[in-house]
Amino acid sequence: MSTRGCPVCGAPAEGAPAFHESNIDPSKLSGFSFASRKTPEFMAHRLVQCPECELVYADEPPDEAVLANAYHVADFDSSEEAADAAAAYLLAIRPTLDALKGRGAALEIGAGTGIFLELLAGEGFSELVGVEPSTAAIEAAPVRRRAWIREGIFREADFAPASFDLICCFMTMEHVRDPRVISDAAFRLLRPGGAFVTVTHDYRAPVNRLLGKRSPIIDIEHMQLFSQRSIARLFETSGFARVGVRAFVNTYALSYWMRLAPLPALLKTAAGGFLQATGAGKAKLGANVGNLISAVFKPG
Ligand SMILES: [Zn+2]
Repeated sequence: MSTRGCPVCGAPAEGAPAFHESNIDPSKLSGFSFASRKTPEFMAHRLVQCPECELVYADEPPDEAVLANAYHVADFDSSEEAADAAAAYLLAIRPTLDALKGRGAALEIGAGTGIFLELLAGEGFSELVGVEPSTAAIEAAPVRRRAWIREGIFREADFAPASFDLICCFMTMEHVRDPRVISDAAFRLLRPGGAFVTVTHDYRAPVNRLLGKRSPIIDIEHMQLFSQRSIARLFETSGFARVGVRAFVNTYALSYWMRLAPLPALLKTAAGGFLQATGAGKAKLGANVGNLISAVFKPG
């Protein structure tokens, strides 16, 4: 571990008020601790709130190599939820797609099984590239999609500058050691007029304020937590224009919402069993659960 200042605005961590004290219990970590859409554990690193840009961030995050390995070996068991999420993301970014000049190449950072890339193929994108650190996620991908996905951590140097029309990064900006690196890289890798789209949590959303320490945003995977103001600041500093940040409605099966719910384990198991037995768990339910979708454009 090493200390850092605010990864969005650079303000020092000294004097930043605490947002969450570290409560990580190593005996409770599992292979799913770094997986997508897992059952919340409500454990996180110490988080402070930047007085300058209001980003919440771990001032003593694990080193890059430690994080990279955690995601590399993470388990994967959420194909159905991934499909629901991808469909909701496509719906939400349709206005952004319509504003693009071209539908040549698209890049997804944190591509999972490549299900969103599959939807982009259906939207007419001719070249699809995903980057995904989890071997288990890639192994769960159909063969056709595996050809699109590069295993490992995203590195700007692996791609040509100004080569993409669209870059997407869903539920990943919180997980990276330095979101500034991703934002600046996306700016350089996009063609003029290209768009960068992210989905992140919003720690200031009413649902997250209400749940407090029992919110799924309290997570060992989260190196930072954004709000509308702090993520807009990140993108504007990278040079992006037409910065649009808004609340976003997720649609998932009822059984998945139940897994996320801040209920005692026994009650959760009983309710989950009931939903499964009756088939009610398959019903899809849309809700604003405190996420933000951001779409920003490279000028030109
Ligand atoms: Zn800051």
